[in-house]
Formats: sequence, C-alpha cells, structure tokens
Amino acid sequence: MARVLGMIGGGQLGMMIAEAAKTMPEHISEVVVLDPTAKCPASQVGARQIVADFKDKDAIMQLARECDIVTYEIESGDADVLESVSNMAEINPLPETLRVIQDKLLQKTFLSEHGLPVPEFAGVDTLADIKKSLQNFGLPAMLKARRDAYDGRGNFAIESEPQAAEAFEYFNGRPLLIERHVQFKMEVSVIAARNTAGQIATYPLVENIHEKNILRQTIAPARVSDGVTKKAQRIAEETMEIFKGAGVFGIEMFVTKDDGILINEIAPRVHNSGHHTLQSSSTSQFEQHLRAILGLELGSTKLVHNAVMYNILGPDGFEGRYLPPDIHGSDVYLKMYGKEISKPARKLGHLNIVGNRSADLLQRLDGLLDDVAVHPA
Ligand code: ATP
Ligand code: MG
Repeated sequence: MARVLGMIGGGQLGMMIAEAAKTMPEHISEVVVLDPTAKCPASQVGARQIVADFKDKDAIMQLARECDIVTYEIESGDADVLESVSNMAEINPLPETLRVIQDKLLQKTFLSEHGLPVPEFAGVDTLADIKKSLQNFGLPAMLKARRDAYDGRGNFAIESEPQAAEAFEYFNGRPLLIERHVQFKMEVSVIAARNTAGQIATYPLVENIHEKNILRQTIAPARVSDGVTKKAQRIAEETMEIFKGAGVFGIEMFVTKDDGILINEIAPRVHNSGHHTLQSSSTSQFEQHLRAILGLELGSTKLVHNAVMYNILGPDGFEGRYLPPDIHGSDVYLKMYGKEISKPARKLGHLNIVGNRSADLLQRLDGLLDDVAVHPA
C-alpha cells in the first residue's frame, strides 16, 4: 500500500525528493513537508506544506501523525522531538544519528572514536581555548559553529593570532569547535545509501570545487588515482557501518597532499554533490533515498555518463527578483529551484552536463558560463 511521506525541510533537496516520489505512486501517495518559508521549493512541485520552524515541536508532531514515514532534507530538525514521535511514524535516518551528525563536535568525536580519519579538532568555549588550539594547530585554523551551519556560513578561517578575537566575537556565543586547516589537494565526496534491510550502496567518488566555502562545481568521477578512489570508497563504506538508520548520506572528504583521506563532514541526507546523478546514473540519489527508507532494493549506482554539475548562485551585491538563465542544448540540463528572491551565494539552481569525457564537459561549461548567470529582473 502506498504511504504518506513526511519531510523536515522543503528546500531544493526536498523538491527533488518530492519529484522522485511522484515517479513512485505505488509506494508514495503524498508528500508533506515542514518548512518555515511559505511556497517552499518542494511545495511548488506538489508537496503539501506545514509552514513552521524546523524545530517546532507541535508541527513535528503533526507531521508524524499525518505521515507513515518521516525523513529530512536538512539536518536542523529537533532530534529529541523526532525521537519522541518515533512511535507515531517510521523515522529515517534514526534521530540518534541526526543528533550526532547535526553537532560537528559530536560528529567528529564519534568518527575519530571509531577510527575514521578526521582533521585534528577541539571543542572551544573561550577565547583562551581558541588561542591554545592555535598553538597546537598553527595558522590558519578553521573556527566552526557546532550546529546549524550550511554553505560555509558557520565557518571562520583564522589567519593570524589577533584575528582570533574577531572570529570568537563573530559567532556571538554559539557553541564552537576549531580544526587544523587542511592543505588539501582536492575535495571529494561519496553519496552512499543504506536501506532498512541493511543493504549498502555507494556512488562513485566525485570531485568538488568550492568557492568562498560554497560548493560551485562537481566533477563525476573524481580525477584521482585508483588508489585514492579505493581508499575514499573504503572510508565511505566504513562510515556507513557506524551510523544507524536508512537513507542517503553525503560523505565529504579531503584528499591531502600525500594522497591521504580525511573526512570533512557527513550529511545525513541527499547532498548537493549528488545532483549529477539526476542525469548521470540510472538511479538518482533522490530516488535512492526513497528506495532506502521504503525498504526497497537499492538501485544501480553506476555512472552511465561522466558529468559536471555547476551550481547557479545568486550574484554578489544583489538581492531581489531575478531572471533565470536560459539554457538549451543536448546533454545540458538546467534545474531551477523556484526561489523567488536571489541573495548573494544563494543556491538558485544547478546545471548538469553529461557526456563521455570530463575534459569536454568542462570545456562545454566554460562556453556556457555567460549564459548561466542570473540577472536582476
Ligand atoms: P556545506 O553545507 O557547504 O557542506 P558547511 O557549512 O557545513 O558546508 P564545511 O563543510 O564544514 O561547512 O566547510 C565548508 C568548506 O570549507 C569545505 O568544503 C572546505 O572547502 C572548507 N573547509 C572546512 N573545514 C576545513 C578545514 N579543516 N581545512 C580546510 N578547509 C576546510
Ligand atoms: Mg560541507
């Protein structure tokens, strides 16, 4: 019998999950999302929306009451409340997994306790703690908010000792951790899934290029040696073994100068670096997530085509209505998220280009860069 799917968050990730759900009517009859922004992206593709804060207890209870299964597209849900409603709906990934992952200090502690490689880190409460860590880690160092950070907005790179005070004040009392700054030669990630029966599947390693802390571009597969690919895939699989619950996870890693792998962070949800799977793979990460939480057999994760994904971001120095890019062509797929207002660096959409050779795809992207810009309306 088809079930009602509830989701914390209805942004672009929720939108693409809701679209995948529409292709599975025999399994999912309706999608309900909880999101504070009226007319959120998921609601624009047919999901029913409860307009409320991600942590609103009554709203989360309503969602659990009205739905058979509850999942998330954002890690900001209240894990305690979710735990308390787990007798009303099946919740995946498990609230205890969400609790660990949504706090970067708990997450890094958990990973390192299980023998997984992470950059050196420390929880810090005071400016004195930060200064002490700078002695250990050297400069620059990365000060991070433990919770509710996304798109690099909870990070502050401390470049000099006097800057420590500025960084501390920037966070205005939020709980913090500090990390050694990794001199990586590449950022990579693996999208992995586990279904409710315990079956695990991983997509091939991809390469991620960030600009100002925010993902700009993903190249699939990553342009690294077989040895690095194997190591990263193995670490991703080991990571999946330690986090409980079903669903898709995004595992972000650094490739260090000496070809070592360090985990940067885990997302307990579909991930921006998996958007290429919409056209590059026979099962998109969004369908895979649904298959995982519905207890269906996982789909193939094979790359059918190489792909380049390019994020369409709100331009600097502009806030307001915008004209979306107008792009057509074979093997070029533009996806806009229906957000009304552009803000600097806001993710407004993405472009996937698929084909045989990554070098050709990158060249193709280069030629499209002018067309891909958004302009004020
Ligand atoms: P997102 O939502 O974009 O995944 P986030 O806001 O949770 O990210 P992080 O993933 O912690 O933030 O960091 C964003 C980016 O900042 C990383 O992808 C990387 O480019 C850089 N970064 C983070 N931590 C470090 C570090 N310890 N050393 C070097 N660079 C780092
Ligand atoms: Mg990240």
